[in-house]
Amino acid sequence: MARIVMKFGGTSMAGTERIRRVAKIVKQQADAGHEVAVVVSAMAGETDRLINFCREASSLYDPAEYDVVVASGEQVTSGLLAISLQSMGADARSWLGWQMPINTIEAHARARIQDIDAMPMVQAMQQGQIAVIPGFQGVSMEGRVATLGRGGSDTSAVAVAAAIKADRCDIYTDVDGVYTTDPRIVAKARKLKNITYEEMLELASVGAKVLQTRSVGLAMKTGVRIQVLSSFIEDGAPPADTLPGTMIVSDEELEGMDMERQLITGIAHDKNEAKITLTRVPDKPGAVANIFSPLADAGINVDMIIQNVGREKGETDVTFTVPKADLPRSMDLLDQAQESIGYNRVIPDTNVAKISVVGVGMKSHAGVASTMFSSLADRGVNIIAITTSEIKVSVLIEEDYTELAVRVLHTAYGLDDTVC
Ligand code: ADP
Ligand code: ASP
Ligand code: MG
Repeated sequence: MARIVMKFGGTSMAGTERIRRVAKIVKQQADAGHEVAVVVSAMAGETDRLINFCREASSLYDPAEYDVVVASGEQVTSGLLAISLQSMGADARSWLGWQMPINTIEAHARARIQDIDAMPMVQAMQQGQIAVIPGFQGVSMEGRVATLGRGGSDTSAVAVAAAIKADRCDIYTDVDGVYTTDPRIVAKARKLKNITYEEMLELASVGAKVLQTRSVGLAMKTGVRIQVLSSFIEDGAPPADTLPGTMIVSDEELEGMDMERQLITGIAHDKNEAKITLTRVPDKPGAVANIFSPLADAGINVDMIIQNVGREKGETDVTFTVPKADLPRSMDLLDQAQESIGYNRVIPDTNVAKISVVGVGMKSHAGVASTMFSSLADRGVNIIAITTSEIKVSVLIEEDYTELAVRVLHTAYGLDDTVC
């Protein structure tokens, strides 16, 4: 008998019919004698709909009240799943974020989980009751509802798994595992049997939204075993956890498992960045700090940065990227700081995408970046900016070339599934 956390995403929870299918998958595990906690997302599209209501109510909405509104999507699906399980004869109840409680800290709309008091829930699970937990929500230090940021139900699931010392955390979604790239973009994408925490963390952080980045970081820190699998299985199929998904494993585990790993494990793209160029910035000490300090103070994450070769008159152009959602605020802040920075013009550009290749094999092999640059050049794709880490190379390109670039690189690194 095991203690397991099962998490179901928005597409799996989209409507009562799908929730009934989820209930069947959950009940199968409970009937097998396991202690089961289920974490659920809101129905697909619901969180977007709720966010739009907030925007319509006021463009300057209070984040604490935004949390009250958007957390409701998961409250609905957790109640509906508990009802569906009960109607199948299972013992089940919902545990809202404030009831458990899942205590959070920091800002509304991007709260972080501090701790979870899961004792009463575990006792109920030991009595055979299935616990249903709305993902994405917790309670703030002031006793108010708080949400964890988009895609946060993955993080709720991992945090619950760590708190109740679950044997594993199964993330059920609308694809049957982690692929070499988004299978909705590249038909020849290949499913990975295993991927390391480190690689998954990098892939998620550069746009592979199959898992929220924070959930992978938390799993790595707490040693939670994650498996990604599909909730879209046929009636009468064996239990989903016996179907092959993707296991997230440590470096050491992987070494023993997979001798023939490719140099590159996966490719991701991100269309959520915008580029800003400041022209004729004084080329002197302190100039760059003057640009980035106000952005950092406002909590805006700057990602890629290039400072061009200085012009003749001690001036230079500086280009960098920020999240698209932060572009208007960044422009305001740069406008206010024009005098202290001393730039001439600020040029925003939202027509960009970041393409990244990730793989632990890069640590010991040279030439990964040059393959990327030459493959893109051969197809006429211009590179605007580059960043690298120990296991990742990212380039910024024009957004219109995103799909082409991902496909070309997928082939260039030998990742195509030849059976397709
Ligand atoms: P959920 O609602 O279950 O949380 P998400 O939409 O957040 O699901 O994540 C699943 C989606 O992630 C898939 O439908 C797929 O399009 C996308 N995705 C992006 N990169 C990958 C990848 N490398 N492997 C698998 N899926 C990926
Ligand atoms: N419903 C939330 C969102 O769409 C959280 C989640 O599904 O993970 O971002
Ligand atoms: Mg998700």
